[in-house]
Amino acid sequence: MNQRRTLIVANWKMHLNTSQASLLVHRLHERIRIHRNIEVVLAPSMLVLQPLSTQIDRRKFRLAAQNAYQKDEGAFTGEVSFTMLQDLVHYALIGHSERRIYFNESLEEIRDKVAAAIRNDITPILCIGETQHEHKAGETKQVLHDQIVTALSNLTAAQVKEVVIAYEPVWAISTFGGTLAKPTEVQHILDFIRHQVSQLYGATAAEAVRVLYGGSVDDQIVRGYLELEGCDGALVGGASLNYQKFAGIIDAAHRLQTETGDDA
Ligand code: PEP
Repeated sequence: MNQRRTLIVANWKMHLNTSQASLLVHRLHERIRIHRNIEVVLAPSMLVLQPLSTQIDRRKFRLAAQNAYQKDEGAFTGEVSFTMLQDLVHYALIGHSERRIYFNESLEEIRDKVAAAIRNDITPILCIGETQHEHKAGETKQVLHDQIVTALSNLTAAQVKEVVIAYEPVWAISTFGGTLAKPTEVQHILDFIRHQVSQLYGATAAEAVRVLYGGSVDDQIVRGYLELEGCDGALVGGASLNYQKFAGIIDAAHRLQTETGDDA
């Protein structure tokens, strides 16, 4: 039986002010039940983390930052550190393709952010994925290899066990085109990612790491990804802004666990 807890993450991106976010949490709270083997993580804007932290039912939800700065403290105008987020969030998205593409985050910056998250007891959700151009050029594995090797390079094998890796082909993300990736194709890449972790940090680390899929996932198609071997959950953008769709995704994860006996 799979020992890795399923993770369903809502990436609200730069949407929802405090009252809108609060309303969405209220609706989700009414709609979803407590699931022992599913962690539901909400990644609102930085501004909304504090008010939501007092609103959420912690049996149902955890919070994630969408980004943070790699230094713990200092003269870095406009930035928020992982240290400052320590009491607010369990998780942080790191290296999301929008950060890599629009904010030119480099492999090394992402490596430093992953290390900073771990140093501050925040679980990194390391987002990796190839662009459409790289996909078409047959460079997917090389790109993912480089992203994984660099991002994890300052961690020990024990620390790597804590990391979550979200595979999000850029071309499948709704705002970058939203071409649906075939589950068979995704299976191949999930296997590749775990194999990379195994080669670098050993089989125990590879078995512990949670690997998610993201890219235009909604309540109708999520099952096709969740039932892939070694898929530990989903990172959801657009559909996470709609409480019915997002709750439907959680229902699908729960149904699958019930069917496979993983909710025991
Ligand atoms: C994302 O940006 O992380 C994402 C998966 O977005 P969407 O679900 O909208 O494709």
